[in-house]
Amino acid sequence: MSQFWKPGTEKPRILEDEEGGVVYLSHSLSSSSSSSSSSRYGYASIENQRQRLPVYKYRSAILYLVESHATSIIVGETGSGKTTQIPQYLKEAGWADGGRLIACTQPRRLAVQAVSSRVAEEMGVKLGEEVGYRIRFEDVTTPDVTRIKFLTDGVLLREMMDDPLLTKYSVIMVDEAHERSISTDMLLGLLKKIQRCRPELRLIISSATIEVKTMAAFFQPSKRRRRLEGDELGPKMDPAILSVEGRGFNVQIHYVEDPVSDYVRAAVSTVMLINDKEPAGDVLVFLTGEDDIDAAVKMLTEEAQNIKKSSSGLVILPLYSGLPRADQELVFSPTPRGKRKIVISTNIAETSLTLEGVVYVVDSGFSKQRFYNPISDLENLIVAPISKASARQRAGRAGRVRPGKCYRLYTEDYFAKEMSVEGIPEMQRSNLVSCVIQLKALGIDNILGFDWPASPSPEAMVRALEVLYSLGVLDDDAKLTSPVGFQIAEIPLEPMVSKMILSSNELACSEEIITIAAILSVQSIWASGRGAQKELDEAKLRFAAAEGDHVTFLNVYKGFLQSGKSSKWCYTNCVNYHAMKKAIEVRGQLRRIAQRLGIVLKSCERDMQVVRKAVTSGFFANACQLEAYSHGGMYKTIRGSQEVYIHPSSVLFRVNPKWIIYHSLVSTDRQYMRNVISIDPSWLIEAAPHFYKQRHNPVLH
Ligand code: ADP
Ligand code: MG
Repeated sequence: MSQFWKPGTEKPRILEDEEGGVVYLSHSLSSSSSSSSSSRYGYASIENQRQRLPVYKYRSAILYLVESHATSIIVGETGSGKTTQIPQYLKEAGWADGGRLIACTQPRRLAVQAVSSRVAEEMGVKLGEEVGYRIRFEDVTTPDVTRIKFLTDGVLLREMMDDPLLTKYSVIMVDEAHERSISTDMLLGLLKKIQRCRPELRLIISSATIEVKTMAAFFQPSKRRRRLEGDELGPKMDPAILSVEGRGFNVQIHYVEDPVSDYVRAAVSTVMLINDKEPAGDVLVFLTGEDDIDAAVKMLTEEAQNIKKSSSGLVILPLYSGLPRADQELVFSPTPRGKRKIVISTNIAETSLTLEGVVYVVDSGFSKQRFYNPISDLENLIVAPISKASARQRAGRAGRVRPGKCYRLYTEDYFAKEMSVEGIPEMQRSNLVSCVIQLKALGIDNILGFDWPASPSPEAMVRALEVLYSLGVLDDDAKLTSPVGFQIAEIPLEPMVSKMILSSNELACSEEIITIAAILSVQSIWASGRGAQKELDEAKLRFAAAEGDHVTFLNVYKGFLQSGKSSKWCYTNCVNYHAMKKAIEVRGQLRRIAQRLGIVLKSCERDMQVVRKAVTSGFFANACQLEAYSHGGMYKTIRGSQEVYIHPSSVLFRVNPKWIIYHSLVSTDRQYMRNVISIDPSWLIEAAPHFYKQRHNPVLH
């Protein structure tokens, strides 16, 4: 039986008895007990809440497995308490005694912050003391006091550079392993190696999906090893697998009848429809990124104002990684009585974070994903279709507190026939430059022979080696050069940015380049979410530099300092105050790192040519030449002859200098270059003679 509905047209009808895999499974708790338990939830003591979580029943089983096995794989539905509870159980059982630490990694920074503050609250301690967190450029831990530490998988990788065996940790929980982020996969490979030297180290791999065979196989010791290591005293080397029964309630799935052309608009009308026809309950909308989320928030706010009567009770909130702390907290705070919360999120709410009270999910069917093509050597952020596994996870978010509904903005046919079963590990769709330099810095020379959970493509590996060679990071034997290679590896930024910082020393413009690096490391410094595009464009014009975005950033930074770091100044100039404050903090840290590396902090004052040269020395691989004025200016990459365009948010949009370098690419209808700067092509050969060999590029000669 199939019935369909089109967003904004009529009330969706319920689909009963759908075919395999469509209706979300419900487990142990029956729906009859649900409504009372959800309404009581807010009043329960923290201890009581903890005991109600599905993992609680498995507390002793988990502790037993961790005690007896080197590696335990724990699977459980999102919200069952894996992330917040297991580290606490470990601590209660003594794994943090004797000055040891328990680590729990997350692929996302926002999740690290949110989860650690929740755990600190549950334990009744101040965040940063017994429970702390660490993300890049932010260390909220206290030496000798912190016992449970949440951190991004990337930061744990960095910690290995100082402490290759991660000796301070007794247990490392690699959380959200199903996401298969590139850092998670690198971490898994390295931890497996560490375990051989440190059999007392315990690993917990936790995942939201049942598909754990790959993980189990990866941690299965070879027969020979098992014989060698099979002494009775240590933990068993075979991985243990434990599945936590969730308590998700039924979720009814609704599909659109015809494909939608504009998923933002469709999402907005679906929310309005839910608000109109459905009983109380919060709505979680999955879009892809800051841009479409801000657009949806704006459209919904307008619609809500138009239909005052029924929509006065809407609390509309965005959720994405660049969000200031205060806004994040709003998302987690309980919905006021009589109101309906609408959270519009990236896929961060798919499994990393649990929002209480969600009963309706609207799934656009897309997320932003990284894609790398080793042939064209372009890495892109692309709005791409999600997998069936993701679609099921998203639907499951509606069944946390009581039976819910999920509105998929794609057809049932599309779900059944076209969606891929699972996503591709990020390792296989990324540029590997950062990955290779990190492994090299950790002394792993045979990268192709490294034991990965998913092997990267040899072409991508060759490309990465080539770029690193041209950056001066690797020598002819593919070993890290000294000092440049080691210095670049030590700066916690992409190697290309780090190279730019190193070069700024000789070019005597380190102060400017560090400012640029800091600003590039935060999300956009423009307050684009506030609405009026015209206002934003005018503000940008006040700072715009003919050289491009990087120099424009320097102007904004100068203005911000002159204003006395005023938030009012930011508001008037459409600058994102929080991003600027963050950039200033990052800048301070980068200056300290630079000084440690022997870089002299110096300003070039008004000489922007040296700044552009320094950018070129790091980003030469991203050089492009203007080909035609059509479509507002078509460029081609010098190395791969790929068609690219300047993003409309750039100050060089429609200015179209002949030679430019971009910082990153995003792809929608076309490949757009974000943050571009004009250069002189002769600098390219100067910066990377090997990379721009004459026979490849007659154009430069
Ligand atoms: P899992 O890791 O299995 O997905 P979590 O440990 O993240 O589950 O979450 C368990 C429960 O803790 C959630 O269902 C929610 O009730 C509560 N919780 C987690 N984070 C927060 C938070 N930031 N604010 C309020 N409650 C939270
Ligand atoms: Mg979790």
